[in-house]
Amino acid sequence: MNTLIVTCPSCKAKNKMIASKQHRGPRCGKCQTPLPMAGYATPVELTDREAAQVIREADLPLMLDFYSPSCGPCRTLAPVIDKLAHHFFGRAIIAKIDTSTNHLSAGHYEIRGVPTLIFFKNGQVVDQVVGALPEDALVAKLNSFIRA
Ligand SMILES: [Zn+2]
Repeated sequence: MNTLIVTCPSCKAKNKMIASKQHRGPRCGKCQTPLPMAGYATPVELTDREAAQVIREADLPLMLDFYSPSCGPCRTLAPVIDKLAHHFFGRAIIAKIDTSTNHLSAGHYEIRGVPTLIFFKNGQVVDQVVGALPEDALVAKLNSFIRA
C-alpha cells in the first residue's frame, strides 16, 4: 500500500501514514495536533494482499478503480481519480488497483476490461462502471452512491 508524508502544521514533524488510514482523523505522532489531511488526500493504492481487508473494513463508501498502466483510457482517468480523492475526502474512500500485477482481485471481481470502477458499501458491491466516464459524470455518480 502507498504511504503519505504529512507535515504537522504545529511542530513541522513529517508524519508517515499508510493511505488507508488517512480518513481516520490522524494526529501528529510527535505533538498530537490533528493533521490537516484534505490537501494531502490521495487514492489508496491496493494490492491483492490488502484489497479484501481494506474493502471489508472501509468505514466509508469505497470506490475501487481497476486499471492497467498500459491502458490509454486508464491513464486518462488517473488524474481524475486523484482529483476525486481530494474532492470526496472524508465522504468516500477512493482506491485503485493495478490489474496487471494483481490478478487475484481482477479475477475475483470478474474484471473483463479496464478501467472498471466498482462501488462498495459495507464490503458489498453495490454498483460498477466499465470504461472511463468524464469527470463530472463520475462526480455525480459518486454523490448519488454516497447518498444512496
Ligand atoms: Zn506535530
